[in-house]
Amino acid sequence: MTAAGARRETADLLHTISDYSANYLQDPRTEHTGSAVDRSELRRRLAAPLPRTGADAGTVLGELIEHGEPGLLHSGAPTFLGFVMGGAYPVAVASEWLTSVWDQCGALYATSPTASVIEEAVSRWLVTLFGLPAQTSVGITTGCATANLTGLAAARHHVLAASGWDVERDGLIGAPAPRILVSEGCHVTVHRALRLLGLAGQVRAVETDDQGRMCARALAAELSRTRGPLIVCGQVGNVDSGAVDPLADVCDLAHEYGGWVHLDAAFGMWAAASVAARRHVSGLERADSWATDAHKWLNVPYDCGIVLCAHPTSHRAALRTSAEYLTPAVDGGRDPVDYTPDMSRRARSVVLWATLRHLGVDGVAELIDRCCNHARRLAAGLAHTDGVTVVNDVVLNQVLVAFTPDERSTDAEHLARIVATLQRGPVAWASPTTWRGRPCLRLSVCNWQTTSDDIDECIAAIVSAHRDAGARRHTHIEEFA
Ligand SMILES: *Cc1c(COP(=O)(O)O)cnc(C)c1O
Repeated sequence: MTAAGARRETADLLHTISDYSANYLQDPRTEHTGSAVDRSELRRRLAAPLPRTGADAGTVLGELIEHGEPGLLHSGAPTFLGFVMGGAYPVAVASEWLTSVWDQCGALYATSPTASVIEEAVSRWLVTLFGLPAQTSVGITTGCATANLTGLAAARHHVLAASGWDVERDGLIGAPAPRILVSEGCHVTVHRALRLLGLAGQVRAVETDDQGRMCARALAAELSRTRGPLIVCGQVGNVDSGAVDPLADVCDLAHEYGGWVHLDAAFGMWAAASVAARRHVSGLERADSWATDAHKWLNVPYDCGIVLCAHPTSHRAALRTSAEYLTPAVDGGRDPVDYTPDMSRRARSVVLWATLRHLGVDGVAELIDRCCNHARRLAAGLAHTDGVTVVNDVVLNQVLVAFTPDERSTDAEHLARIVATLQRGPVAWASPTTWRGRPCLRLSVCNWQTTSDDIDECIAAIVSAHRDAGARRHTHIEEFA
């Protein structure tokens, strides 16, 4: 095929996908939160051995749509409350497509001047939105997991360098042992990052209160016990309760002992962008590094995370690379490769630029406030029902709910029935957790499209699933009596 022919084919295929997208996006079935097929059916459709002969692009896309669509989970639906999963703003989806068409290698200024400068702009916007120190450096990652890894790598560099140890040159064998203090309920990706950084053996959990907030007094006691290079990992938004550590106290204490504070702020970071919600994260700006997500609360498509670091020199030192064939940006230009573990990467900052530009400072704040209000409405609506207890203080967008079954079911059995009902749809898809020993339903409001009516529909669906779970139990007993 000639180059011109290939360009024409790409354009034709994009038309096909554009027509399909228009239908898909307007299909009311995409508002149904459940998935329609089981795994064996999906495997039959999608997981046959790779045929020897290829197929033309149009046929392939047709197959993908026909066989893939039934197994989609409509997590972008406005009544989807599972995990912490936002939807996607129209401008974000469209600029994501533009990113693919442009197909820039976002590694260096040299490989994409536009991506480099857009990343510079987005970095400044984010630092201002979150109210962080002006010199804060920023990396755009695949998600908060990689952002945690990056922030903690910067931390490891910094605290060991302060003890006279060059971990990038000499590794960890023989290094002064750092102390890593994390809150009891910290996210699995923080533990994984610490493992990957060779620090697993140094980790100690600090006690948390009934909401999942790190106890400052327990931290102080832990700090006074030992000496040495120190990293403290705090949480801005517990993945279940949404609770925020006492950030000012955590930062002051850790700094008093010469430590570095890394904050896992996957969704809670965005509270800093709202005048109303900012009080829940006060002290956030005193930390040394932060990890957050754009694909959760900012409602951009997967994947996009953000790492921020108040010590740009340590941030870059932890990730430094150089090779004869790589030409660094000159005169203060930005090479994205200096701020995350990836080299070649999608120009993710394009979507951030478009979405932030679309919303503006006020639009971001309004999104956050709206979701927080919806979460409070959800909690208040559920709390009125017999046998339903909201177990967390609803500070941000997370609501944790426990159910009291009748005496013939355990809490876990009753919750499992509720979850099964909700996951069949059509509204209020949600998933379970165990909160301080008690089986609970986790609800998260972070979709830009969710309205008060959607929340009321979700309340009705959850209450009805709770009542059915009790009733079904009785039917079950009679059948087997
Ligand atoms: C989602 C989440 C993460 C991990 O983020 P990914 O974007 O899935 O990589 C880390 N910490 C918290 C608190 C989260 O909610």
